[in-house]
Amino acid sequence: MAHIKRGDNVVVTKGREKGKQGKVKRVLLKKNRVEIEKVMMIKKHVKASQKDPQGGIKDIEGTIAMSNVSLWCESCSRAVRSKVNVDDAGNKQRVCVKCDTTFPNPGM
Ligand SMILES: [Zn+2]
Repeated sequence: MAHIKRGDNVVVTKGREKGKQGKVKRVLLKKNRVEIEKVMMIKKHVKASQKDPQGGIKDIEGTIAMSNVSLWCESCSRAVRSKVNVDDAGNKQRVCVKCDTTFPNPGM
């Protein structure tokens, strides 16, 4: 089970975007990479199309290795690791190893 999910608040822990926080837009499971809002922005040349008649150079989010990001815990105000708890109903919940806050499972 991937420790990062779409909609999670994460922080970059390695690389040139270290320290940046954002929301996960996309998880590329097979590549073990994630796309985070406003992080790792890259320029992309877009051809004019029906959807985008202008085309041109756009700023888009590049992907980042999942191992270089950590979940952000609001209550700890820091990057944390999560563990998986199973509640009485058998649902898996990710909780902060430091403060036991449950991370929501957004967007799934
Ligand atoms: Zn915490």
